[in-house]
Amino acid sequence: MAWHTTSPTDTLQQLNSTPEGLSSTEAHDRLGKHGENALIEKGAKSPWAILWEQLSSIMVIILLVASVLSAVLGDYQDAVVILAIVVFFVSLGVFQENQAEQAIAALKDLSVPDVKVRRGGKQSKVPAPQLVPGDIVILETGDQVPADLRLIENHHLKVEEAALTGESHAVEKQIALLEDEEAALADRTNMAYMGTQITYGRGVGIVTETGMHTELGHIADMIQNVADRKTPLQNRLDHVGKVLAVVAVAFSGVIFAIGMWRGEDIKVMLLSAISVAVAAVPEGLPAVLTVTLAFGAQRMLKRHALVRKLTGIETLGSVSVICSDKTGTLTQNKMTVTHLLEQESCLTLETEEELSPSLQLMLLCAALCNDAQLTQESHPEATDNHGDPTEIALLQAVTTRGQSIGALKAHFPRINELPFDSDRKCMSTLHEIKAIPEHLKTLTKTYPDFIVGNYIAFTKGSIDSLLARSENPAEKEWQKQNTLRAAEGERVLSFAHRFWSSPPDSLHEENLELLGLMSMIDPPRPEATAAVATCLAAGIRPIMITGDHPLTALNIAHQLGITQSEHVLTGKELHPLSESELQEKLKTYQVFARVSPEHKLRIVKALQSQNKIVAMTGDGVNDAPALKQADIGVAMGITGTDVSKQAADMILQDDNFATIVAAVEEGRIIYDNLRKFIKFSVAGNLGKIGVMLVSPLLGMPLALAPIQVLWLNLLTDGLLGFGLGLEKAEGQIMQRPPTPPDESILGNGMGYQIFWMGSLITVIAMVLGGWFWFYEGPDAPWQSVLFTSLAFAQIFQALGMRSSREHLWQIGLFSNPTLMGMIGIVFLLQLSVIYVPFLQTYFHTDALSLPLLLIIIGANALILVIAEGVKALGRPV
Ligand code: ADP
Ligand code: MG
Repeated sequence: MAWHTTSPTDTLQQLNSTPEGLSSTEAHDRLGKHGENALIEKGAKSPWAILWEQLSSIMVIILLVASVLSAVLGDYQDAVVILAIVVFFVSLGVFQENQAEQAIAALKDLSVPDVKVRRGGKQSKVPAPQLVPGDIVILETGDQVPADLRLIENHHLKVEEAALTGESHAVEKQIALLEDEEAALADRTNMAYMGTQITYGRGVGIVTETGMHTELGHIADMIQNVADRKTPLQNRLDHVGKVLAVVAVAFSGVIFAIGMWRGEDIKVMLLSAISVAVAAVPEGLPAVLTVTLAFGAQRMLKRHALVRKLTGIETLGSVSVICSDKTGTLTQNKMTVTHLLEQESCLTLETEEELSPSLQLMLLCAALCNDAQLTQESHPEATDNHGDPTEIALLQAVTTRGQSIGALKAHFPRINELPFDSDRKCMSTLHEIKAIPEHLKTLTKTYPDFIVGNYIAFTKGSIDSLLARSENPAEKEWQKQNTLRAAEGERVLSFAHRFWSSPPDSLHEENLELLGLMSMIDPPRPEATAAVATCLAAGIRPIMITGDHPLTALNIAHQLGITQSEHVLTGKELHPLSESELQEKLKTYQVFARVSPEHKLRIVKALQSQNKIVAMTGDGVNDAPALKQADIGVAMGITGTDVSKQAADMILQDDNFATIVAAVEEGRIIYDNLRKFIKFSVAGNLGKIGVMLVSPLLGMPLALAPIQVLWLNLLTDGLLGFGLGLEKAEGQIMQRPPTPPDESILGNGMGYQIFWMGSLITVIAMVLGGWFWFYEGPDAPWQSVLFTSLAFAQIFQALGMRSSREHLWQIGLFSNPTLMGMIGIVFLLQLSVIYVPFLQTYFHTDALSLPLLLIIIGANALILVIAEGVKALGRPV
């Protein structure tokens, strides 16, 4: 259908809709018929894909080869057990990956934007997937266009269509009919297409196509991001895995050679070599990583941080600077007007004094140059009012002064507007003076142009912005009045007007006349003070970046403890600075005021060139570049635009600064736990390899049967390691500096810790097994002793490693129930393979006497004791 050649009325008719929108039953029916308004995604992994990925992993292939080899060599028992182990491993992997996928899918569902629609004459919000053809959609600056729309109302709409046309300049829209049926997409200026972004203005459109039928849907195959979904950490760990695999092959070669030299059976030696190779590779790593990241994202969500990209989680842990907006993030965004100011006077809002003509006109400006809506004028304080909190506060102030917003709007209909943007820091509206309410009639004396038939333009915004647009302003006096309230931490807005005898075609914001100022309080969030303190303790610098006045900013920054100094840099001062000058300033300045979005971008870049990992918040369309550039772009869930959310790595569902800090903490926990898992797994494997290498040197026969090695691997990496990955935060986690970005995940003494732990495991097992073999003879169950010792060693190792610095009794033995459960399972499984007769044949084991079992447990408990001892000496484990 060539909707661009169809008039708005015809479009409505053909789609069986009205400007009031569809009824909700009709919308429901259409949803059944047309399906969800969503692109069918190819990125998500199906369970089959996950299964295949698991089956084709190197480890499984090695195991399958081993199994076939055993069968060929006539050892069917081993072949079956190895196969069983493969099945177990693969099922575990599929289960874990599938859970992770589901967790990620749930996160994705949450990042779907809500759309403002008109249904049954009422405006409401529905999730984008529920849009149907015929729906009436309201578009505002910062919105993502949710479906293909024919525009039916247009107030200076500009749409950025790069996603579709590749053209990065915003296109101006119109509603008039176009002639050329074959017009290129970019020229169909009365349409708005799914996936494009409103960068300016306001409008209304009717949904013509949804989902895969949209223009974006047609090219969806092309834009599906099939790119590598791996995060840098995953890549780094893959690399670690490869290195370990090479080491493993080298080790197994050595063991094979030693065996041949000792004249062992070649078949046994081949299998041993393979099982050692398998043992040395931390095959649980990829699964543990995915699961840890996905579960971490879920935990962050519980703390109101929605992570859009898993990459974000690992970066969060090393964030060293958080640049935050003031309004709404550090403050409550609950504004209350307190004062009305003129050049000479400062009145409280509740004053009994009669207001001067210019203050009366200022109240009219506050009421009309305003896009917010009070749900009920009789209850102005209700919490469900629509719009920008600053503007809601203005409407509330006007009603406090006993005036009706509705009546004022009827007397002075709006006929044109220039929306607010944070570069200009002001907005304007043009009104026809249709009738003058009784209480304003006297204004005509002071303002002779305030008569029916004339037009009045209102502008409100920051004082600097309005002074620059005014005629002969008494600049000093106004600034002094502004400073008076700003120094108290109040947000000050200024108001101006200009009369027209006929409506100008565009609103020139110039030659204005200032009317007055209104100041409002916006108290700091109580939890922000604690969050700032946490940041400072954790070696993270909080920086405040705001469009507000420097004094207001400084006052709030002092209240929150962001800075004690009087240093504040304004956008104007920042603008002419060179890169290096800005970097120099950034060393001492913590507060930036009156900045524009482009300055945010410069600040991020300057910090990054100092090797900082930067989290940056933003809510507007213009903040998108800074959000993208930041290591962690943080968008506001409540007040943020779709565009900023799309550009962000993380969305704050409660717009709260404290939530960023909570997310950083979760990021650190995850990084810690991954490190723990690697240490645990590699040290344990080292212990096993040590045993395989040392025993032949002592003249003992092959220490562990291949099956036993594989079994140990399964218990430790698959079960214990998984439990360890869910460990809670270490107590000191927010009292140490962030991980340097270039530090290897294996860095910071990890190699040394792995070495002594691995050696300890080997020594204990060798002492027990060797002693038994030496004194009881080769027929004693020395191999089962070794085997069991290694299994129990890792239980105690896991317990000792739960926290790298705190003692087990400090974190509480049962504070990680999953791990405790896993320990119980591992214990029982190990007992069953040594005591259940049927399993004994498969695992080549003998029953151990109870005293012997207790000795093994006791000896390995030493690992825990030593680990705690090391911590007591103040060194990490
Ligand atoms: P911030 O959110 O950091 O306070 P903004 O960019 O939103 O910064 O606002 C910057 C300045 O623009 C404010 O201090 C105020 O003077 C002005 N301003 C904010 N909101 C509006 C609005 N709705 N209409 C007019 N001016 C506004
Ligand atoms: Mg703002």
